[in-house]
Amino acid sequence: MTNDWITNYRTPAHYRYILHDSSHEPSTILNSASYIKREAAKCVACGLCLPHCPTYGLLHDESESPRGRLSLMLALAKAELPLSDKLELHLARCLDCRACEKVCPSYVSYGLALDSARALIESAREPSASPAARSVSILQWLVEKRDRVRTLDKILWLYRLSGLQWLLRTSRLLKLFGFAELEANLVSQPIPITAAEIYPPESKSKGKVTIFTGCLTQITDQQTLTSAIRLLNRLGFEVHVPPDQGCCGALHLHSGLSEKAAEFMGQNIKAFTGDTGPILCASSGCTATLSEYAKYRESEKSADRFCSRVTDLNQFLAGLTWPSDIAFRPLNKRIAVHDPCSLTNVLRQEDKPYALLARIPGVEIIPLPDNSLCCGAAGTYHLTQTRIARQLRAPKIDHLRRLAPDILVTSNSGCAMYLAAGIRQAGLAIEVMHPVVLLERQLQNGAGT
Ligand code: SF4
Ligand code: SF4
Repeated sequence: MTNDWITNYRTPAHYRYILHDSSHEPSTILNSASYIKREAAKCVACGLCLPHCPTYGLLHDESESPRGRLSLMLALAKAELPLSDKLELHLARCLDCRACEKVCPSYVSYGLALDSARALIESAREPSASPAARSVSILQWLVEKRDRVRTLDKILWLYRLSGLQWLLRTSRLLKLFGFAELEANLVSQPIPITAAEIYPPESKSKGKVTIFTGCLTQITDQQTLTSAIRLLNRLGFEVHVPPDQGCCGALHLHSGLSEKAAEFMGQNIKAFTGDTGPILCASSGCTATLSEYAKYRESEKSADRFCSRVTDLNQFLAGLTWPSDIAFRPLNKRIAVHDPCSLTNVLRQEDKPYALLARIPGVEIIPLPDNSLCCGAAGTYHLTQTRIARQLRAPKIDHLRRLAPDILVTSNSGCAMYLAAGIRQAGLAIEVMHPVVLLERQLQNGAGT
């Protein structure tokens, strides 16, 4: 990066503030420059992360690598570089997959630095009016209230049953208004939203667990929540579903809307104060965010306590001693396993789905090749950086075409929706589900028997 590169950019009018103007004080800890300086300064520019970065692998540009982006963030935080469309784009093209963080010998908290940089930029820019930004804003608005998600569930039902889905998909209207990608990923499933607050165990109680249901997951992945509750009840756990919980905040946090994300964190910390055991979450993207609340709410004891209870559902189930009377019906099928980045790079629990699936006799388990590379879903990334997202998804679909599994399992609802949409578009007959759905389906004397 040369000085010319830096000085050739002027701050365009849609940035409301010059970031280092003292009249613009950051309003949350996230949009302060201090996190960026602290984390980016740890980078020793060794380059060990570069071969693991999907965007660097695709674009072969230093500014699209973790090392390059950290140096841009640091220059921004130190006021050595003004805000520009180009700088914003380099940071927007990052998937936040954190593959770089996993291999970094200097333990740079890349995700924290990126969230802070995006919050810093967001606080200084006018809202974008692009179709992709509109889709993201609609999603963010929807997840802010549980009532809105429930209303959307009803609308999606009508949309599918009335034939309007078929009409819009076959016309070019969705594409014309920029909603084709959003629509392709929102699939309503024909089962009612989970409504009870306590689900009693089937046998003598072994203890209590609490379920984080998520926001959109309630409608896009209701089957996973239902299967998780049934399986936990069968294993002897009393399952609690706190009614006042909200979205985990990931959609806002990773888009730079730190104040809204902080509100969700406060809401969830308050909603899960009861003495009801571990907080289990089935979608690894949400679990990863919940497990890091304490990083964003430093010195808050309630945030520390909350995070110490957050556990990935696969991890919890794999760590149990299973009762001898629980058995699974054999299944002679090929199961491909996709490892979501959040499960691998943040939670580091990617071995757990394999351990759980191995309990089903007869299954052939195949890890999806190149599992260390993001599938492109990455929260709202597939809506804003559609071309790169599709370039990352395409090899996964090619692998699936070649391997021809019967089922693809993945533990993140966003990846499941995005991969399922790609599978549908490719005309492949592969079911996509969470490992827990398959386990519950194969339970002897369970729902599937
Ligand atoms: S591996 Fe870590 S220290 Fe090395 S360049 Fe990447 S971010 Fe910097
Ligand atoms: S988070 Fe992922 S896409 Fe972003 S710099 Fe790191 S490895 Fe690359």
